[in-house]
Amino acid sequence: RRITTTDETEEDSRIEPKLRPQRLDEYIGQEKAKQSLKIYIAAAKERHETLDHVLFYGPPGLGKTTLAGIIANEMGTKLRVTSGPAIEKPGDIASILKCLSEGDILFIDEIHRLNRQVEEYLYSAMEDFTMDIMIGKGAGARSIHLPLPHFTLIGATTRAGLLSAPLRDRFGVVHHLEYYTPSELQTIVLRSAEVLGVKIDENGAAEIARRSRGTPRLANRLLKRTRDIAQIRYDGEITEQVARAALDFLEVDRSGLDNLDRMILTTMIDKFGGGPVGLDTLAAAIGEDSGTIEDVYEPYLIKNGFLIRTPKGREVTDLAFSHLGLRR
Ligand code: ADP
Repeated sequence: RRITTTDETEEDSRIEPKLRPQRLDEYIGQEKAKQSLKIYIAAAKERHETLDHVLFYGPPGLGKTTLAGIIANEMGTKLRVTSGPAIEKPGDIASILKCLSEGDILFIDEIHRLNRQVEEYLYSAMEDFTMDIMIGKGAGARSIHLPLPHFTLIGATTRAGLLSAPLRDRFGVVHHLEYYTPSELQTIVLRSAEVLGVKIDENGAAEIARRSRGTPRLANRLLKRTRDIAQIRYDGEITEQVARAALDFLEVDRSGLDNLDRMILTTMIDKFGGGPVGLDTLAAAIGEDSGTIEDVYEPYLIKNGFLIRTPKGREVTDLAFSHLGLRR
């Protein structure tokens, strides 16, 4: 597995609860989302109402789950966490909804992966806090109309476009989470280091931040690995020099690229003169599935200007040549 993956690893899920900020004021960055949530939360509390349903979309590891927890804390309510793929049948969502109390927050991660039947069930639950369930089978079956407690649904997805329009329309508040700036990530690294009891200085944190692809989850993971290296090879404190050596050892370079990213770029240069090269041809050359290249590897390269998509295929940019120390 790549160290730069932004998906949650097993180790992440053990450590993340400790590192998650609990209050809006501790949550770093995402200023727009934070400012408006502050207002909506205060207004809902003043009216003694539940918060409108909220949808967060954006790449993995940017803090969607964290924000859901913070909203529950700020509202003084309970958080129930589940995910799209975990809710298979209408019965599953019915039993989750039945167990909610007034004011609870239901967080559904990967909400775009709900199946159609379950999704239709949610419509009335979200809109007028009721659900219709079928009792019995065959000729004796009848539908009963059940009231539900007022709850807030918080949905998370990587892309808003993956959601069906009727579901998307039922969220009163929609926020796109952005990649973090290096300086925001530096603050996050310093905070995490304090929670974990790791000695680090400002420049050490800045170095980790620069290589973290704009993603707090990755910043926290790189901090942990850097700590191990600092402890075994150095005197334990993470300075800029130690961070640089550790991240070089982990093969995450100054732009946050890992071996695989560099392999994609060098293959394109060596075998295809820098492109344009079709996605399938490239996939075959590096022995990967074209869907994985498109969804997992390529977005970061494109976002940072190492790769562009043209009608004729993928092309390496001048920046990629110079980053790799090569000439066109
Ligand atoms: P997502 O749900 O978007 O995949 P998470 O909420 O699980 O992301 O966040 C991943 C990790 O990054 C968590 O450990 C969390 O502590 C940290 N994190 C995310 N956003 C922030 C932030 N704004 N400030 C501090 N830490 C953050």
